Amino acid sequence: MAQRVEQLELPAHVRLVAVSKTFPAAAIRAAYAAGLRDFGENKIQEAIAKQADLTDLPDITWHFIGHLQTNKARKALQHFDWIHSVDSLKLARRLDQIAAELSRSPICCLQVKLLADANKHGLTESELWQALPDLAQLSHLKLEGIMAIPPYGLLLPQTQSFFERAYALGQSLANHQETPLPIHHFSMGMSQDFPLAIAAGSNIIRLGTTLFGSRT
Ligand SMILES: *Cc1c(COP(=O)(O)O)cnc(C)c1O
Repeated sequence: MAQRVEQLELPAHVRLVAVSKTFPAAAIRAAYAAGLRDFGENKIQEAIAKQADLTDLPDITWHFIGHLQTNKARKALQHFDWIHSVDSLKLARRLDQIAAELSRSPICCLQVKLLADANKHGLTESELWQALPDLAQLSHLKLEGIMAIPPYGLLLPQTQSFFERAYALGQSLANHQETPLPIHHFSMGMSQDFPLAIAAGSNIIRLGTTLFGSRT
């Protein structure tokens, strides 16, 4: 694991989230020993079970990266520091309300859907602009990031421009005149495409396969 991490040679400003979904707590322990502290999971119950096994590693930052149903918002807030997959205004509102109750202030990324993609959740650009005034009022969430996953099967140049568009969208939200959002986290890039994402401005990559091997 240590060797896999070293071989990545990431720029210093890029944060590596190790996507440990489907892998056991022991795999997280090995990655922790190799120096990793950020772990991403996409299922609440699976994550809670592993967290219970890892209570002796207190300085892990947990990132929720999967689709979140509103009825699991409370559990997500109780068990994760970051939520990368805020994919609707409804979910954002629910999270904000519960975050207030729990006195939590999670860092959140808005998951955007820049191209039609039946397999992915996310706010389209027009939905995002429409929701922006309401999103900007949510005072408990730290809505500071953009998360984007390219549709399956794009060619390299298309993937590159997809990430560039996502980055530009984040900048426009940050620079908006009336209701800016302090977007400065760009959660873009997985095992297949992270160099392209970094070239387009990503500063958080989410790697599973590259670190842990393929999922069965
Ligand atoms: C599984 C997953 C990853 C990691 O994918 P790899 O291709 O294994 O690196 C990253 N982000 C999300 C949202 C995922 O669900």
